[in-house]
This record gives sequence, C-alpha cells and structure tokens, in this order.
Amino acid sequence: MRLACSECGAEAASGSLFCSACGGLLEFRLDSVASDARALRLSFKERRTSNDVRDQSGVWRFRELLPAIAREQVVSLRENAVPIYRAQTGAAYADATRLAYLHLGMNPTASFKDAGMTVAISHARSFGARVAVCASTGNTAASMAAYAARAGMAAIVLVPAGGISEAKMAQTLDYGASVVAIDGDFDRALEIVRGLDPKQVAIVNSVNPYRIEGQKCAAFVMLESRDWNPPDWLVLPGGNLGNASAFGKGFREALDLALIDRIPKLAVVQAAGAAPFATVFRDGGDLVPLKAQTAATAKRIGAPASWRKALAEVRASGGTVTTVTDDEIAEARAIVGRDGVGCEPASAASLAGLRRLRENGIISRHDDVMLVLTGHVLKDSAYAADFHASTAPLANAIARAGDVQTLQSLIDRTTAVHV
Ligand SMILES: *Cc1c(COP(=O)(O)O)cnc(C)c1O
Ligand SMILES: [Zn+2]
Repeated sequence: MRLACSECGAEAASGSLFCSACGGLLEFRLDSVASDARALRLSFKERRTSNDVRDQSGVWRFRELLPAIAREQVVSLRENAVPIYRAQTGAAYADATRLAYLHLGMNPTASFKDAGMTVAISHARSFGARVAVCASTGNTAASMAAYAARAGMAAIVLVPAGGISEAKMAQTLDYGASVVAIDGDFDRALEIVRGLDPKQVAIVNSVNPYRIEGQKCAAFVMLESRDWNPPDWLVLPGGNLGNASAFGKGFREALDLALIDRIPKLAVVQAAGAAPFATVFRDGGDLVPLKAQTAATAKRIGAPASWRKALAEVRASGGTVTTVTDDEIAEARAIVGRDGVGCEPASAASLAGLRRLRENGIISRHDDVMLVLTGHVLKDSAYAADFHASTAPLANAIARAGDVQTLQSLIDRTTAVHV
C-alpha cells in the first residue's frame, strides 16, 4: 500500500496528514494483493473460527487489504464483530421490501468510529506516539479515549461545549481522556486540531487516512455476511463524510479484487440544517461551509473535511445525496426502536432518508437495501427521554399506576389490542 494525495496524486510520506504539494487529504492506494479473490475469501472466512485477537476483529481479519502494521502493535477491542438485522417495522415504514440494518453501533464503544480508530491508534503506537488528539461531536472522542487507554497513550479531545450528548461525554471521561470544551462548534474544534504538529501528537480525526482504512472494512464485513453478493443500495448518514468515503473505497477495492462483480449505489443522508454536501452534490462547484444546526449532534458539521472524497465515491457508485428534517429523524429513530434494534439520532437519518428516496422513486420498492446504523441507542438517552415525553405520534409516555386496578386495566386494554 502506498500513501498518496487524494487530489493531485503526489506521493506522501507516512506520518503526514495533508499533501505537501496541494494541502489535499491523503489516501492509501492498494496496488496489488498477493492472493486472488478465492484465496482471500477463504482466509477471511477461516479466520472467523480462530482465537487470534486480530482474527476476531472485523477489521484486522481483512489485513491483506490494510496498511501493514506489526502484529504486536495492533490495539484491538474486537471491533466490527457486528450484526445485520432484517428490518421489519422499518421496511413497512419506508415502503421497502428488502431491507436490513447493518448495526455498527454494536461496536466496543458503541459507534462505527472503532473500526477506524483501531488502525489509527495501532499505527500511532507503532510510531511511538505518546498522545492522541481529536476534535469530536462525541463518538470519535469516546472511541479514541478507549483505544488510547488500551495502547497506554494519553488522549486529549476537543469538543464543542454543549454540543455532545451527556452519555458520550461520560463515556469519554470514564476511559480517562482529558476533555477540553471549546466555545466554538465542531468545525472550529477540527480547525484547531488540524493546526497542531503531527510530529508531536497523533491526530486521529477522519482526515487521518488510517481511520478510513479501518472504516472501509465495514463494507467487507457486510459483503462477506452476504456471501459477497452486494445489495443494490447502501444508505448511510453523512456528517464529516469520512464514513461515506470509506464505504466507497471499500466497495471499489472489493470490485478491483473481484471479490464482488458490481458496487452498491451509495445514498448519503444529511440533516437539513447541516447539509452542505447535499447542496454541492446538486449544484456542483466547491462546497460552501455553513453554520450547522441539528438535534442529531453527531452530524452537526458545516464544513465536512472529506467532501471531495465522498462526492467522488457517490458519483462513481451512481448514488445520491438527500436531506431529512429533524422531525423526520426523530420519527425514524422511534421506528428503529420499534424493531427492537434502536440507534442514536444521527443513525436514524438513514431510515428517514430511505423513506424520502422511496417516495421520490430514486430507490424502488423491491431494491435490496442495506441501512447503516452508525451509533447505539444508549448514546443519546436524553434525546430519547425527551422524545417520549413529547407529543410526537410515536412518543411512548410513561403511565402512572397509582394502584393495582390501574395496572389491571392497562393489562386488559393491552391484551384486547394484541389479539
Ligand atoms: C461520526 C458519526 C456520523 C457521521 O459520520 P461521518 O463519517 O462524519 O460522515 C454519523 N453517525 C454517528 C453516530 C457518528 O458517530
Ligand atoms: Zn496534493
């Protein structure tokens, strides 16, 4: 694997984060792999019964397709051993017939960030880094804090004050990271972090190409679980757009290696108040940063760092970008809950987005669709509590049972409905 600029193609030195020629983001290029598709599929599969820590990870299991990192440097929490669930209520809600959830919220720190973080922190450790730093809306912070703790590294996170959920903050503190709350938003926090010296600290935001390498493995996990039969569509939420870039890259590489014979179309869903990518997809030109506003804090990003990469991936796949309102996200999140699955608000944008894309006919009723759930339901319990105390149609208010008769009448009414 070699590191090159994603924009001008110039070769880049390992350890740098941006192109020294044009300032563009770097990416790894997979030039050649020793094994053929058959042999790769077989070893990926065989590793699933192995007790090697790397083989139990849905990232390191695909190590032929990752930058080389010595076995003893790998910091793993068994990430990406995640389930795929058939969506029942969700399918009816979106008027789709072949729908499943790829639940990346079932990762060790409960978001997809772990898949990238295991690679970024392992690489940082192998180069002797002592301190890891990131800007975060919460999930990157929690993930980095956990992996840094495992690696024996210090962790410092910059978060927008008031812009991250209590649960994510508590989790990050538990893993021992130092948290610095800034007065600005996420975009400001990332700007500050991008200005730090990468020789002094390991910067592990998704501008770090090692993160993308780890995250692309979610595409392999999903494809492998379907015996390498790709779905028609992959629908996912987009914030900083690292994940959309990563899935696109994973699919392209799987195609190049003949692991699959076509790539799924990518549909990226943004919150209406944080949708600069939807605008640039529609209008072309350069992305115009904006002041982002949405209750889905994981996507409250107005200047997405990976927009160029993500745009190229969406276009190459023949995919699309759409937006959904905060109310649509709230309702879709409740529906994912009714499937017995649950997710955090930002994740539910994928179901809300699918519903829109079904309404406008871009996705057909019988298309085979994989929805990415990016974070766990407990990541934002305050949001869920507020929703159920609201007047929303799907709000599930707490009943007050003063005495046994009240409870009995609830049971009678409920059994009458569920015949
Ligand atoms: C980080 C995150 C996103 C956004 O992903 P990007 O790669 O920044 O586009 C969406 N949902 C959740 C739960 C996240 O943690
Ligand atoms: Zn360049």
